[in-house]
Amino acid sequence: MPTDRSVGRLVPMITAPTLLSSPLGVVATGVLVGLAVTQIAIFTTTVYLHRGLAHRALTLSPPLRQVARAVIWLTTGIRPRQWAAVHRRHHAATDTPADPHSPAQLGWVRVQLTNVALYRRAARDPRTLERYARDIPATRLDRVLYDHALVGLGLGLAALALVLGWPVALVAGTTHAVAYLALSGAVNAVGHTFGRRPHPNSATNLSWLAWLTAGEGLHNNHHAAPTAARFSFRRGEHDPAWPALAVARRLGWVEVRRDRPVLAVRSESRPARAA
Ligand SMILES: [Zn+2]
Ligand SMILES: [Zn+2]
Repeated sequence: MPTDRSVGRLVPMITAPTLLSSPLGVVATGVLVGLAVTQIAIFTTTVYLHRGLAHRALTLSPPLRQVARAVIWLTTGIRPRQWAAVHRRHHAATDTPADPHSPAQLGWVRVQLTNVALYRRAARDPRTLERYARDIPATRLDRVLYDHALVGLGLGLAALALVLGWPVALVAGTTHAVAYLALSGAVNAVGHTFGRRPHPNSATNLSWLAWLTAGEGLHNNHHAAPTAARFSFRRGEHDPAWPALAVARRLGWVEVRRDRPVLAVRSESRPARAA
């Protein structure tokens, strides 16, 4: 009969250094870490940039807002006031020629593949910021620190490298960049093309996309009630960010503007096809 000690010696020990010593282990770890970073970035995007800043559907407590601000900087380099302005323009001009990223105007494949370029074009247009982000002026901290996207992204990557080494950090960074851009593009492209439209607007509800994007896939609901902090309205719909928000609300970390969704008075028109 083997003793406990001898059995212990026979069981191969899988430790982090062992896992990271093979190329496959490096890639697998990098991909998993990258996908985890994407989920953190997507969750912060929907809660802080989208529901909080762009629509004022909720208010984060000041400490939580600072954490979210830093997470967005380190994982995406996005300037919050630019994101809010581009997104407000999307709501104001949905699927018209003035929409920064309309699949009805440009085709869903083009929006899916070039979403980041379309975003940058709208963000760099001074009229976008002037008209849609007057209430979000740049702070001193923005000018000194947060407006420098590459510094944020570089520090985020360096932090990963410090913990996991450069090979894993580079795989994780690449995975995160591809996954974050693909999912953000999908909300704007797929989420205005395929899926259910329970409310009369051009956006769609897709439950698989909602699971991958912390609720953003319930885009038809969101266009119907943009000031609702919760994106799921009925049975069978799941907004993965909402349970976390409900807990944060109980702890006094989040204030929610409305408990029930208020449907927008003016329904957006059906998409006008480009000629
Ligand atoms: Zn939309
Ligand atoms: Zn919105």
